[in-house]
Parts: sequence; structure tokens; C-alpha cells
Amino acid sequence: MSDTSLVRGWCPDLFAPMQARDGFLVRIRPPIEGFEADQVRAIALMASDHGNGTIELTNRGNLQLRGFSLDSARLAGRTAIKCGLADQNPARERRRAVLVSPLAGYDPACHPDTAAVARKLQAELLADDRLASLPGKFGWGVDGGGLFPVGAISADIVLQARPDGWSVLCGGFATKVLDEAQAIEAVLAISFAFACQSEVKRPAHNASITKDVLERVGFLDCLQTMAAPIFTFPVGKLPGHRRGVGVPFGRLSASDLYFLAEQLGKDRLRITPWRSVVMPENTKNHPGFITEATDLRLRIEACIGVSGCERATEDVAQTALALASDVPPGCVLHVSGCVKGCAHPRVADMTLIARNGRYDVVRNGCTKDTVSWADRNLPDIRVLLSRELKEIKA
Ligand code: SF4
Repeated sequence: MSDTSLVRGWCPDLFAPMQARDGFLVRIRPPIEGFEADQVRAIALMASDHGNGTIELTNRGNLQLRGFSLDSARLAGRTAIKCGLADQNPARERRRAVLVSPLAGYDPACHPDTAAVARKLQAELLADDRLASLPGKFGWGVDGGGLFPVGAISADIVLQARPDGWSVLCGGFATKVLDEAQAIEAVLAISFAFACQSEVKRPAHNASITKDVLERVGFLDCLQTMAAPIFTFPVGKLPGHRRGVGVPFGRLSASDLYFLAEQLGKDRLRITPWRSVVMPENTKNHPGFITEATDLRLRIEACIGVSGCERATEDVAQTALALASDVPPGCVLHVSGCVKGCAHPRVADMTLIARNGRYDVVRNGCTKDTVSWADRNLPDIRVLLSRELKEIKA
């Protein structure tokens, strides 16, 4: 592990653990098809024996394990490689970051080639050492649409299914429809162009530079894309004999993870970018999980807050729970410990940015958008929720 791995703000992975208030964080990226039961057990063991036992589902569909020492994080890295959970080359491991529609291969409405395209793309990315200079946070997605609507998967570069092929999305722009091979080639070309950039190396950081990059690699016909849909994960029955299980605030314990492993048999666990998991349909209920669509916790999002992060000033999950009954069905309230917005870096119906018991409020936006009402207290927030949000019927 290099010294650079200790730099704060580094995107954590197995080779680059990041220091937080409760210890080092390590992230494990799932295989394209999801985790096997033995891999899930190995991760639960790592979390309980070497970390503080808390595991988080990230909005990139990864598992984040908390509370490691630097030595135990190194040990976790070696275990993960042994269990087939990571590439032994740190630069290649970073290029495994391909997020796939979680119902690929199960949902008949999801493009039938979604998982195969993701495997091909990942193999090409791993083989392309020219991309080694991309930042650790750079990620790719393959969005097959279906029950989880097209546009729900976000990443720096996304291959998005169209009725007659694939389009490549990057920083708010989309290419024309391409066939599969052309689309993968386009992703590699755009990735390489960002790898060659001296400063702005991620599309979200500067729209005009992104447009220049796309034009430079031959996508002069790029179009502006629509904003991603506000999307609530459906718990319960899913296509393909699957079951959607919600995980409150995306946080679970090692024993919760063991429980999921025991339900899998020869099946696989898929992590969604909406802090939930896709399991086989016969998965039993567990009190720690969200299994009913009426559960109020489906309407709220919050980060680890003051217990795990030095930037937070309060337990934002508690604040979100206190407000959950004020959020109408179908709406999403995000309470963030700071402007970084880790728990939900997307648009929510209402976003609160907490600071010592007061809140800046963004309507229909994310933490980075213009504040609609500044410096409000909880009673003010309740008034805003009841005045501004109306039930959204499915
Ligand atoms: S949103 Fe801010 S306070 Fe919350 S975990 Fe991220 S950096 Fe920490």
C-alpha cells in the first residue's frame, strides 16, 4: 500500500483505504454477476474480525467496510485477492469499476445483452494500461433499462441501451446510437481522452471541457441528455424470481451479511446503487431489512454522520428518521452531513444540508445545487415538507 493511499479524499478501495473518524474505510467491488455466498461470508468475516463490523452499500453498488486499522486493511486486501474479490494489480482493480443494472439477466424488459456487454467492457478496460492515470473515482456503467428505468444508472461514462443499439453518455452528453462494438470502442476512446487530460480528468467536473473531449475523439454529434429520474427502489417481488430488499441507510452489520449469505444457496447477491440488494425470491424476512413498500425508511437517505465522519456535526440518520413520517409516499428526503452529499449524490425531492442543528434546504436538487431556503430549523423543515411535497403515485 503506498503512502498516497493515506491522502484524505482519496477514493477508498482495497489498496487505498481512506481515514474516517471511525478508522480506515475499504471498498470491495462486486463481480459483474454479483457476489457468491462464500464471498459474502468472507466479507462478513473481514468486517467483524478486522473492521468495526459495519458494512455500507455505496451508491456505486460497492460494499464499504468501516473501522479498520492500516494493518487490518492490508490483511483485508490480501484476503479479498485470495477470494477472487479483487485484482492483485491496484491500477487494474480501479478499472473493475463497472456498475451494471442490478436486474440484468433477470428482468425481461432489461436489454438482454446488458451483463455480456458489461463483461466485455470490463475486460477491455482491464487490458488497457493506457487508462492507468484515470483517477480512482472514475467509473463506468452499463444501463440496460427495464424495471429500473433507463437513466437510473449513473457513472462517469455509461453505455445506455436504446431500442436499436447503445448510446454512450458522458457528463450530460450522449452520442448517437451505436452498435455494441462501436459503443465499447467509444467508451475506451473517451476514457483514454480523459486519461490524457492534464487537469480535469472526470466529466462531471466541467461541461465545456467534457464537450471538447467528446468532440476531439469524434463525437461531434453529441446531444444534451435529460436529468436522471428520481427513483425509489421497489422492495418485494421483482422479475426473474428475484426479491428486492431495502437496507436502512445502506448500513448493515456483519451478522446481517451472514444472514444474506445463508439465503443465497448457489445464487448470487447483487448490490444496487440505491442502497438495497437483489436476492432470490425465497429470501426470508429479517428485522434489520426493509421488506414492505410502505416502510417510511424507503423515503429517506442519510450518510454516516457524526459517528463516522469528521465533516458532520450531527447524527443525520436520526434527523431523517424523525422527519420520515412528514415525507409523502413516492418522495425522497435526503439529509446530508455536509455539502458533499455522499449518501445520495443525486436529485431528491428535498435535500437538507445539516450544520449544527440548522439546515440549508434544496428543493428538487442535490447538495451541490442552489439552496432554496437557508438556515432553517426542524419546525421550519416540517412546514416546508408539508407545503412543498405531494404524494407521488406509482
Ligand atoms: S456527506 Fe459529508 S458528512 Fe456525510 S459522510 Fe459525506 S463527507 Fe461526511
